[in-house]
Amino acid sequence: MKRAYNFNAGPSALPLPVLERAQKELLNFQGTGMSVMELSHRSKEYDTVHRAAQERLKRLLNVPDDYDVLFLQGGASLQFSMVPMNFLTEGKIGCYILTGAWSEKALKEAQKVGLTTVVASSKEANYTHIPALDDVKWPKDAAYVHITSNNTIFGTQWQEFPDVPADLIADMSSDILSRPFDVGKFALIYAGAQKNLGPSGVTVVILRNDLLERIPDGLPTMLDYRTHQKSNSLYNTPPTFAIYMLSLVLEWVEEQGGVTAIEARNRQKAAVLYEAIDESGGFYRPHAEKGSRSLMNVTFTLPSEELTKAFLVEAKERGFIGLGGHRSVGGCRASIYNAVPLEACEALASFMNDFRRRFA
Ligand code: PMP
Repeated sequence: MKRAYNFNAGPSALPLPVLERAQKELLNFQGTGMSVMELSHRSKEYDTVHRAAQERLKRLLNVPDDYDVLFLQGGASLQFSMVPMNFLTEGKIGCYILTGAWSEKALKEAQKVGLTTVVASSKEANYTHIPALDDVKWPKDAAYVHITSNNTIFGTQWQEFPDVPADLIADMSSDILSRPFDVGKFALIYAGAQKNLGPSGVTVVILRNDLLERIPDGLPTMLDYRTHQKSNSLYNTPPTFAIYMLSLVLEWVEEQGGVTAIEARNRQKAAVLYEAIDESGGFYRPHAEKGSRSLMNVTFTLPSEELTKAFLVEAKERGFIGLGGHRSVGGCRASIYNAVPLEACEALASFMNDFRRRFA
């Protein structure tokens, strides 16, 4: 069986041992005579899966005791709305730092709910870097500060998380679990699963419990974080199979040596591709400035549209899948999430070098 070199931006590569395990357990999960998908979400077998996923995530990210892990649906996109609906209360201001298309979308949803302000942005520079916060004038009545930790489309990433004078909320959809960080620095973190965590269908939310006291009454039940916190994300039927897969992915990360070991590998993988770019004599042009480069999404263009197109066509023929840039920006993007092996990055770098020699 030949597995593709999968550089998809999400849904994206999953660890092979995870897929094999799911395959093995598919028809008869732990002697139940049925698949995980067929278990009642109220059964003790499913409950064990659900709790194991929460516990593993807490362990891997060193989540402090006063935080809860929720499993929601609606993708990271629903969090763009839920965050302001729950926390952008009357008279408060939602502060947004714009670092790409996903932060813009988060802001747009917040604007429908309450007062917002953009405290920093790199939009003018076509999102080639993460903006500095030295000159920010923070409003006194900030509800929260929202950031996107990794910008999937532009290929930039916060290298260090900022100190801000209000609760920090982060969309970590495309880099959660790729490197260690201090969860305690954040009031709330959310991430769609389909990059580093598992298949699509589940959204992870990690939130500090005291935030729940600020939630106004009268929200639709399903959009109120308290509903899910109180019921341990079992208020209604959760995406049981996606949570099972998440649990297997987390087990795999533990087997790899945890998030510190994963980060070391991710740095190695990204270095291989950035080296192919940096040593190409300007043939491959990186989108991101050096100090803001993402370890997850490596974005670049070639000297012309024609060459970019030819590169993508040939890459695909050779089994490198998903290298086209996001439809809004074009160019090339290699998404190298946790499950993408070093070997895939080395093969791609070697193809890039070969292509450059022929076309430069
Ligand atoms: N935020 C980021 C950083 C993303 O990369 C994505 C998806 N690519 C989203 C939000 C939207 O996620 P979803 O499709 O789960 O709504």
